[in-house]
Amino acid sequence: HMPTAELQALDAAHHMHPFTAGAELAAKGARIITRAKGVWLTDSEGNRIIDGMAGLWCVNIGYGRKELADVAARQIEELSYYNTFFQTSHVPAIALAAKIAELAPGDLNHVFFAGSGSEANDTNIRLVRRYWEIKGQPEKRVIIARKNGYHGSTLGGGSLGGMSGIHKNGGMLAGIVHIDEPNWWDQGGDATPEAFGLARAQQLEQKILEMGVENIAAFIGEPVQGAGGVIIPPSTYWPEIQRICDKYGILLIADEVITGFGRTGNWFGSETFGIRPHIMTIAKGLSSGYMPIGGSIVCDEIANVIGGAGDFNHGYTYSGHPVAAAVALENLRIMQEEKVVEHVRDVANPYLAKKWAALTDHPLVGEAKLVGLMGSIALTPNKATRARFAGDQGRVGYACRERCFANNLVMRHVGDRMIIAPPLVITPDEIDVLIERAWKSLDECLAGLKA
Ligand code: PLP
Repeated sequence: HMPTAELQALDAAHHMHPFTAGAELAAKGARIITRAKGVWLTDSEGNRIIDGMAGLWCVNIGYGRKELADVAARQIEELSYYNTFFQTSHVPAIALAAKIAELAPGDLNHVFFAGSGSEANDTNIRLVRRYWEIKGQPEKRVIIARKNGYHGSTLGGGSLGGMSGIHKNGGMLAGIVHIDEPNWWDQGGDATPEAFGLARAQQLEQKILEMGVENIAAFIGEPVQGAGGVIIPPSTYWPEIQRICDKYGILLIADEVITGFGRTGNWFGSETFGIRPHIMTIAKGLSSGYMPIGGSIVCDEIANVIGGAGDFNHGYTYSGHPVAAAVALENLRIMQEEKVVEHVRDVANPYLAKKWAALTDHPLVGEAKLVGLMGSIALTPNKATRARFAGDQGRVGYACRERCFANNLVMRHVGDRMIIAPPLVITPDEIDVLIERAWKSLDECLAGLKA
């Protein structure tokens, strides 16, 4: 390939990156990733980087699996594309839908395919509103979501999400409201995590009563807020949310785009946290990011009502794309054959959990939280008071992320929180490398703060 500097110049001149300030990119130049295998990335200068984020939380099975390349090649030759609109179908979409229904808990037996998590959440907005319309309650349109949640970047997904930067950027859909998130470290004050978790969940009940239950269609939440900083809720939170949804007959949507397909040590995060959703959003780990694919897994009741009415006017050209579906199916086959979900449980606890918790011995680290293979550490100048750094929020997190990257470790920062979500196939030896590089980066970050 071309020399790195030339690639960087072309990139800055012509390529608009998602969620990236163009001027900063032009000044620094993008790091150009050329190949990857397992948990390791290689850049255009030949550096080997350990990927603590599985790309964007998606490469669950690790990079570079030949089986997936072979399946994609075969599928392209056999049936490169056909749609699933109207009354046509094809083998990969049928087989994948059946496989997902087998893996999903409860009566989540029906899959509506999309090309991404954002598209799937847009589908969900339509599904729940259409459901209540057919049931004769068309005024039930409001969806309650959470601040700091992330549900995608389309207008629908971005409106469900609770990120003010995205809301400002193009406006909001009507009929979506947000309650506070269960982030004890930053917002819990003197309350215990358990009392705080309960109080945050009870905001759902307050919101339902305030808006009128006759107007509420659904509640949506990620079992663990991912892009919001891996906010693992107190143990009291989800049982209370579930109780409130049951009490008022509110549809519950679990956005499993990150937590699905093994991330938390079960096939779905809902199983880890005892959630019984009517709809799950899936994407990312479904194909381990080898192909763009997402979807909504829908319970019998909603599928029967929507299917019975026969006029759900919604779909994407690439809904159930045969190549993406074939690759996703092979990904799930490998995950089952190689017991990847069991591996997550084995390697996460106690092996990673001990080392992760020990990061709180570092002067900069307040809390360290982990569930399965997703974790976060809160950086703070004062662990006892859970204080924030002076100046811009996220400045220290950003500096720490830069040190990690310089030390050939991908760790993301969300404000002053550092997060990981490595490929699920990471080995104990690779965990050692990740932790060693994280310590080194934290030390350098601390030295920088003192300088
Ligand atoms: N939902 C959650 C929980 C996510 O984390 C993401 C992406 O990070 C999305 C939805 C959006 O998925 P996509 O980027 O595939 O549209």
